Amino acid sequence: MQKERVIVIGSGPAGLTAALYTARATLKPLVIVGNQLGGQISITAEVENYPGFPEADLTGPELVDKMFRQAEHFGARFEYDEVIDVDFSKGSPFYIKTNGDEFEAEAVIVTAGASPRRLGIPGENDFIGRGVSFCATCDGFFFREKEVVVVGGGDSALEEGLFLTKFAKNVQIIHRRDELRAGPALKRRALANDKINFTWNTVVDEVVGNGMVTAIKTTNLETKESAEIATDGVFIYVGHYPNSKFLEGKLAMDEHGYVITDEKMRTSVQGVYAAGEIQDSIFRQIATSVGQGCAAAMQCEKWLSERE
Ligand code: NAP
Repeated sequence: MQKERVIVIGSGPAGLTAALYTARATLKPLVIVGNQLGGQISITAEVENYPGFPEADLTGPELVDKMFRQAEHFGARFEYDEVIDVDFSKGSPFYIKTNGDEFEAEAVIVTAGASPRRLGIPGENDFIGRGVSFCATCDGFFFREKEVVVVGGGDSALEEGLFLTKFAKNVQIIHRRDELRAGPALKRRALANDKINFTWNTVVDEVVGNGMVTAIKTTNLETKESAEIATDGVFIYVGHYPNSKFLEGKLAMDEHGYVITDEKMRTSVQGVYAAGEIQDSIFRQIATSVGQGCAAAMQCEKWLSERE
């Protein structure tokens, strides 16, 4: 069994920041990366609101690369695997199992993030990779001069919808209300973009196709009218859920599966901290995740040094 001082579970902005701070505190953290280095920002096209990058041409993967190299430079190590089980019941040292290994850690910082929610409608899963996508950055290129729809009315839907206008002939944003949830800056840009049009008060009931997506079936919630809208692509941005399944019964969570932390990022188990979207259902910004990762790392370091 590999013995570590600090294990960081996850490698999004919270995890990479926790890794940087614990590395600079000479704790040589081991980061268990999860299924994607960088988490959600690795599939984010443009990052316009992370302080320090005024040129507004920063991409998610570039920011991940910078954060990764900075943490690595100070001694963080990276294990490209996923955590499948933990045992926190006996206190420190904590047991962590990945697909390929078993670890013991004196302290743990959980930053496993969140994943895109699905609509749960017929055809959605069947057409993933064949017209249905949760990642405009990854798949936008395949929709050059094509028709696409984006489902959702939040920041993600608008930001990724705007990104898709670089490729698609037309981007139709389908929202279940007649008011957008997204913030004013993105709202303004999306409403002013000639390639974007909005379909309000409408939900998607089914994705249909023949090998590839050809259309969606919708219902207007006001008129109750059904329609079929021809499209080549369906990009779904209807929120997120925390990646906390492996922590069920191990850490206190709220009814939506978010890990409960206090103001010092402490979880219900002493020596286990959580930061980023696994515990934050409110702010969910890169900047807030970075701050929470930093706070968790500082508390973790303090706790470890007080035990010595
Ligand atoms: P979100 O803010 O939770 O928005 C989800 C959207 O999907 C809402 O418009 C919601 O409609 C809609 N929706 C949810 N379930 C649905 C369903 N079953 N059918 C149809 N529509 C459904 O999620 P997000 O846009 O992914 O953003 C997540 C967080 O990241 C937010 O805090 C956001 O501010 C942040 N973020 C920020 C930026 C940025 O600042 N540039 C970029 C991306 C994300 P209702 O509005 O009716 O609830």
